[in-house]
Amino acid sequence: MRSSEKPQDILDSEVRFLKGVGPRRAEMLSRPALRTVRDLLFHLPRGYEDRRQVKKIGALRAGEKAVIRGHILDAELRRTHRGRGPGILEVTVGDETGILALTWFNAKHDWLSSFPQGEPIVAYGEMQHYHGPQMVAPDYQVGPSREGSSKFGCILPLYPLTEGISQRVMRKIIRQALEAGAYRVPDIFPERLRAEKDFPPVGEALWQVHFPEAMEQAARARRRLGYEELLVFQAAFAIHRAHVRQSPGIAFKVGPNVDRRIRRLFPFSLTDAQDRVIGELAADMRSERPMNRLLQGDVGSGKTVIALYAMLAALAERSKGYQAALMAPTEVLAEQHYLTLESLLEKARVRTMLLSGARAGNRVSKLRRIGAGEVDLVMGTHALIQQDVRFNNLALLVIDEQHRFGVRQRLSLRRKGVRPDVLIMTATPIPRTLALACFGDMDVSIIDEMPPGRKPVETVLLPAGKWEAAFDAALTELRSGRRAFVIFPLVRENEELDLTSATRGYEELQHGVFRDFRCCLLHGQMRSEAKRQAMEGFRSGRYQVMVSTTVVEVGIDVPQATVMIIQHAERLGLSQLHQLRGRIGRGDTPGKCFLLAEPTTEVAEQRLEVLTRTSDGFQIAEADLKLRGPGQFFGTEQSGLPEFRCYDFSDPRPLEEARRDAFALIRTDPKLSRPEHALLHEAIRRRYGGRFVLGGVG
Ligand code: ADP
Ligand code: MG
Repeated sequence: MRSSEKPQDILDSEVRFLKGVGPRRAEMLSRPALRTVRDLLFHLPRGYEDRRQVKKIGALRAGEKAVIRGHILDAELRRTHRGRGPGILEVTVGDETGILALTWFNAKHDWLSSFPQGEPIVAYGEMQHYHGPQMVAPDYQVGPSREGSSKFGCILPLYPLTEGISQRVMRKIIRQALEAGAYRVPDIFPERLRAEKDFPPVGEALWQVHFPEAMEQAARARRRLGYEELLVFQAAFAIHRAHVRQSPGIAFKVGPNVDRRIRRLFPFSLTDAQDRVIGELAADMRSERPMNRLLQGDVGSGKTVIALYAMLAALAERSKGYQAALMAPTEVLAEQHYLTLESLLEKARVRTMLLSGARAGNRVSKLRRIGAGEVDLVMGTHALIQQDVRFNNLALLVIDEQHRFGVRQRLSLRRKGVRPDVLIMTATPIPRTLALACFGDMDVSIIDEMPPGRKPVETVLLPAGKWEAAFDAALTELRSGRRAFVIFPLVRENEELDLTSATRGYEELQHGVFRDFRCCLLHGQMRSEAKRQAMEGFRSGRYQVMVSTTVVEVGIDVPQATVMIIQHAERLGLSQLHQLRGRIGRGDTPGKCFLLAEPTTEVAEQRLEVLTRTSDGFQIAEADLKLRGPGQFFGTEQSGLPEFRCYDFSDPRPLEEARRDAFALIRTDPKLSRPEHALLHEAIRRRYGGRFVLGGVG
């Protein structure tokens, strides 16, 4: 690399400019998103091989990985086939304490000459017993030991690999990236923080995390890099939060009268938890600061009434012409909210509208009415936040099941030129670390209590071949007038195939086990009208069985549904499964959920068993996070989970520490305008775009 290049240019330059990385390797690397030198620098090892200690052959135990050093006593190639094809190469090595065989299967004929008798050899591998001690396909080096050898006497990183790239090649590429760029990575820590934390400079930390001289060094370097990542992120949140808090919002009048009027609309009295949350929310709404609140409540805990309460409270002062909107993740759900609302609001003078699918026929006239303030309350999908939607006076925005919308999407909401109160609801309980990481800019309310009379859903795990028990149970329920779901998971990578399996499953069930009942089919690619027809039919009882993809995962509320059979449960995340089963047992009869699964690994089986043991969404979420890791936790790509490369969520303390530090820092320098904060500012901008810090997010 030319030294005239600016540091940033090198870090952002593509990997194929590194020596040894041609177009083919660049393509292989790009699959785990290693596009630039910077990406490589932050592609941290998943573990290490400690090759510093040389062991005596006589002291090796079976299963132990170690470096041995000795001399080649003999080398022999045994043919497995006639002719000159590959064979088994066995090299006998000895030191003062014993002898050991190094074995390669599929060895080529000419390898033999690389092991001249009497030469010194070093090897690293796992010791096994097979007619005496041996190592299969060890890493090795023949000849007098050289000073500074890159393979032995050191700690080697083990990287998450991608097809076509070996550890050896990956190490080489990363070493090159380090040489080219490690010391060019700007150190964003203000001097005071660096001194306080006793962190190594960033370039050093990068070298140490990849090629440490001691394990403690690697750990310290990793802590430093993780902390930095968290600091950038939390500082962005702190700025966002400060900005929201400073900007003027609406001070709604939510007094006792309004409260009474709204509660009269609900057919039940609220739980204590619902009451408490409404108290928190009403306080936000009365305040002049815009509300920015996350509501977490397990599936079925009764979040919808909270949303309704907030919206009706926002609309209470009629003369102001305020509007409220509720955004749902799917059309089916938007529609359901709309129906619930209409029936509740029969007596109220609220003008409501459903705005779903961007292709809806009368969209233009609907948009006109929204813009003219002729509608008070709009329900919709994210069609609601598309560019062409202009509200006359949007005062409150409720977003249901937010975990499907990313952080960036949430921030982009704020760019609409209005500053409405925002309430985000999620039924996927989010472990504390993740909540801090993904929603660190928000206040949090939690509903930790179910409406009375709710019985936990009995969950049974069955091997896929034992489906009869599940279908028998469903038939029993159907015969007593209740309803059933059969779920075919839709997995993104395989959408076509899964749609086929749902559609075929529907045909087979309708003409097979459920031939005496009426089935309907629901999946995301059906036309809106067909979806509506299926939903309505299932709700009213015209259909008794709903065969569906995971679109029913969220929010669908049909109290008569008591059985759910989930096919290929092993493909879904725990929280997602928990959501799904939350659709049943919502009435007086307890629900039964059957997970048909072919878990291929022990972890997969452990995962599913958690569901049979507990119905506490928070516990399930913690287990899911532990077993699957943060990236997979939400089960969707647009999870809103920022891509953390160095911090791994295993310990909440660094997160809390970075959060405290970041918020303190933003209190002293709200716009990061001091020179010592310029690099931090720059890092946030690179990650979240210029508007984030410069203009706030407004
Ligand atoms: P979720 O939190 O999953 O969105 P919902 O708002 O759909 O839950 O509520 C689940 C069910 O519980 C609905 O049928 C709703 O009418 C009912 N429900 C909500 N709150 C109460 C309550 N306080 N008492 C009795 N039933 C309630
Ligand atoms: Mg809901």
